[in-house]
Amino acid sequence: MPTILNPDLRRALADRVRFYNELGIYDFYRRGQSIAQTESALIEAEPQGESSSQPELREEMSPRKSAVVAKPADENIFEVLNARPEQSVTDPVAALKLIREDLGDCTRCKLHKQGRKQIVFGVGNPQADLMFVGEGPGADEDVQGEPFVGRAGQLLNNMIKAMGLRREDVYIANVVKCRPPGNRTPERDECDTCSPFLMRQIAVVKPKVVVALGAVAAKNLLAINAPMSELRGRFYDFMPSGARSSDPNWQGAKLAVTYHPAFLLRDPRQKGEAWKDLQMVMKYLGLKPPSQNV
Ligand code: SF4
Repeated sequence: MPTILNPDLRRALADRVRFYNELGIYDFYRRGQSIAQTESALIEAEPQGESSSQPELREEMSPRKSAVVAKPADENIFEVLNARPEQSVTDPVAALKLIREDLGDCTRCKLHKQGRKQIVFGVGNPQADLMFVGEGPGADEDVQGEPFVGRAGQLLNNMIKAMGLRREDVYIANVVKCRPPGNRTPERDECDTCSPFLMRQIAVVKPKVVVALGAVAAKNLLAINAPMSELRGRFYDFMPSGARSSDPNWQGAKLAVTYHPAFLLRDPRQKGEAWKDLQMVMKYLGLKPPSQNV
């Protein structure tokens, strides 16, 4: 016999789902928990301090992870609210456009009021086999509205060329889409707020390989905290959070980690190591190296 949700809980669930949708999160999974437990949890789900005795509620509030909600007897509210706009189209160009429209003139994190000139969404082949993900826009990117167009961008272009590809063959994006002031490292809350849109971009492009450029990108994509020396040199199985693993056309990407081009500009001795990372990717993608190196 189906459980009938009380109307207040139903409204609270719908409001919560809308809240996550606003953050760009559309997919939810069900934790093995009774309706009664969840109802009680939702009623008490105000933000808790460090000493909270309900760690799973803090987890639920973290926008980096899928929201945890119980599956109610009446699922229609989720069927309607969970649908991401881009899932209504099959053309990746149109899908990326819908994500950009969903992002809008974004004010979801504090970077919107710290001097950004514009949002830097992403650029490249919407069906690329290879995707590069950096940390965030710098000054040149902020002016031009395109990722990796400054000196670091020129080096990335050379790296792409050395792989036997052109810039327009790959897709390029960042973890955060607004320039952090003074090119500081984006903060955790900024990455957590913005990265769901990156995850949606990856889910649309469906690359075979994602290359994380630098530790910030690697840690945000993989949700692990480790030094570059441990992150590099291997492939990770990667499925962007929120992507439907049941998509018959795409079972996720391989993810490799290498140095950010800006770091390589500061320490050119590491270019050889970066080249090893790219060669690993080339081998996987069956790319033939042209004569010149990075
Ligand atoms: S960094 Fe991302 S979440 Fe923050 S304001 Fe810019 S687009 Fe919005």
